[in-house]
Amino acid sequence: MTDLQKNHQELLAELENAALAYGRNPSEITLMAVSKTHPFAAMKELYSCGQMLFGENRVQEAEQKLPLLRPDGMNIHLIGHLQSNKAKKALELFDGIDSVDSLMLAQKLETLASKPVPILLELKTAPEESKSGFENEDALFHALDEIACFSKLKVQGLMTIGPLLGNEKEIRRSFSLLRTTSIRAKQRFPHLDFSVLSMGMSSDFRYAIAEGSTLIRVGTRLFGKREG
Ligand SMILES: *Cc1c(COP(=O)(O)O)cnc(C)c1O
Repeated sequence: MTDLQKNHQELLAELENAALAYGRNPSEITLMAVSKTHPFAAMKELYSCGQMLFGENRVQEAEQKLPLLRPDGMNIHLIGHLQSNKAKKALELFDGIDSVDSLMLAQKLETLASKPVPILLELKTAPEESKSGFENEDALFHALDEIACFSKLKVQGLMTIGPLLGNEKEIRRSFSLLRTTSIRAKQRFPHLDFSVLSMGMSSDFRYAIAEGSTLIRVGTRLFGKREG
């Protein structure tokens, strides 16, 4: 077993422990391996021990390193901000777009898609940080009014990045906000699916699990520190 595979096993065990500690069912929580800056060979190493879901944050990097023919069942999603002019390429490269952060981008993807595309909508839950995501629930619901009628984009849930420098209370408040927003979204758009709550990274996945995360996005803790 390689170091990477060992990290993977340890992380899965930690996820399971965290789930049990917070009264969650471990089978409700999926691990996404965030492979940005790491080669495709490393992804295959994890795939060979059962890791199916991967996250990449840049279209250009993915285009350079990912082969067109992927191993069976390997799923690669975009988790970084997507510029409209790269939407077409992103649809070719990824099995899902987890970082839809504006109505304009959603409209563009809907127009260009030739088959169903799973998406998550990204919400800003830590407003002090300048990063992408719908600004607030109003903006998100306004976009959903229209996205709800789309035929290609398939909403599966919400995604957020917690405060990168917050304390436990601040981080959990951010994740808790995503969960309550998802509950309200389900009430307002009952025919849409909001079952995925993508929140939690290497440093804060325990808090995310405590707050109801169903999808943890982990890079550093698996692959080690990224260069640059
Ligand atoms: C890089 C990245 C992650 C993983 O972060 P780590 O701290 O390395 O686990 C998760 N989500 C997004 C959106 C990222 O860009």
